[in-house]
Amino acid sequence: MHEKTLYIETVGCQMNLLDSELVVAALRKKGYRLVDAPKKADVILFNTCSVRQHAEDKIYSALGRLKHAKKHNPQKIIGVLGCMAQKDQKLIFQRAPFVDLIVGPGQLHRVPELIEEIQRTAGASVPRMEVSLDRSGGSRDEVESSFESYDPLRDPEMRPSPYQAFLRIMIGCDKFCTYCIVPSVRGPEQSRPPQHILTEAKRLASEGCREITLLGQTVNSYRHRTAGETTRLSDLLNQLHEIEGIDRIRFITNYPKDMTRDLLEAVRDLPKVCRYLHVPLQSGSDRMLKRMKRSYTVGEYREMLACIRETLPDASVTSDFIVGFSGETEEDYQQTVDFVKEARFKNSFIFKYSPRQGTKGFELYEDDVPDEIKRKRNNDLLAVQNAISEEDNQPFIGQEVEILVEGPSKKQAKRPSEQTEPLQLTGRTTCDRIVVFDGSKRQIGQILPVRIYDANGFTLFGSVVTHHVGPEVYSLA
Ligand code: SAM
Ligand code: SF4
Repeated sequence: MHEKTLYIETVGCQMNLLDSELVVAALRKKGYRLVDAPKKADVILFNTCSVRQHAEDKIYSALGRLKHAKKHNPQKIIGVLGCMAQKDQKLIFQRAPFVDLIVGPGQLHRVPELIEEIQRTAGASVPRMEVSLDRSGGSRDEVESSFESYDPLRDPEMRPSPYQAFLRIMIGCDKFCTYCIVPSVRGPEQSRPPQHILTEAKRLASEGCREITLLGQTVNSYRHRTAGETTRLSDLLNQLHEIEGIDRIRFITNYPKDMTRDLLEAVRDLPKVCRYLHVPLQSGSDRMLKRMKRSYTVGEYREMLACIRETLPDASVTSDFIVGFSGETEEDYQQTVDFVKEARFKNSFIFKYSPRQGTKGFELYEDDVPDEIKRKRNNDLLAVQNAISEEDNQPFIGQEVEILVEGPSKKQAKRPSEQTEPLQLTGRTTCDRIVVFDGSKRQIGQILPVRIYDANGFTLFGSVVTHHVGPEVYSLA
């Protein structure tokens, strides 16, 4: 029998990486083998992102490149999954009529069955589309149940490393920031039952996973209510902390307003929970925050940051910023620069505002900041942040840090033919700093002490510390 092959390309956030892992797991169960190029594949899938225009353009041009392949090989199945599938729906068939399959992020469990249907009706060329209801397409319950999560299906081989895994604790978002498409394409906010999360975490631990990263668009808004009992993220962390084999727990992304004291205290009191908090501010101007509908002021964020620094003095805090949002003046932008200098984030992700059809921002406000100004603000803010990151990494020189070794560094991975040891390996500290060192393959997956001898803004460079317990005694027995 002809072996079936699958190629998948993923754009976007950690949620998408996890979704792709689950889709691949489901298709492997059906006998598919993953290949590394579209030309080798019977089924080609794109798991897409809609957060910025650039991510969508990338997919439409990748689809354009497949037009001829599909013409010469009509039985190849081409599918578009994820956020852009939910957002653009039939528009994708109009722009790329050779696409066979469109599946939104809430319907991914149906991918194997839909591919089989398309194969059965080969020749009839009936494209299939499965998307969830629009936010206004039914009652809250109806819309919620049209977004299904199918997380327990895991494939250890598809994880970023066998020792690390993403674990989704909630889906969707109800914040409706005016610039953001996520609440429309990922649906209403729904927290998974704690029991499901714990079962999955235990399974991951039994497969050798040491670090789990809990995922949610606003992960610290996690709340699960059942029979009068509410489980918050802090409760969940306490429960996950008990699982033997799990040594590190991270969680992303936090919403500033929901950064409660009980959560910070849980991070402080639970040694397995990493000292790392990603809490996007988005802008240092109250006027912009209000226009973005972020529901906090710069002053409130400042208080939250002070509370983090007081409770967790060794934690690193990171942020996201949007520059050039509609109406952003030089003064608004300068307030962002000033706050970045004041807050000294470990690092920041900075994005140029990209208007998204379907958001309130698109409807209400003009995209009035010219692209060259957006680009300049982006570059300048990045330079300010990078200088801070570099300065704040210097005190690590001479210190010993503990890292979970993840695998070959990016540089090493680019030369797979050079496998002689020592290899350049990489790992992360509990405060999410990347450490590069020379080591051996067998150290991958271990938690090791490393002494830092150099640092730039992005990376610490070190060597593994070998503690001598005493003089070795050799016997010839
Ligand atoms: N839920 C997270 C939060 O609230 O911080 C982030 C989710 S979003 C996928 C990741 C980041 O993309 C946001 O923090 C924001 O900075 C950026 N982003 C979202 N919509 C954007 C847009 N229309 N243009 C540019 N950047 C955007
Ligand atoms: Fe988007 Fe705001 Fe929700 Fe984050 S909190 S996913 S930025 S709407």
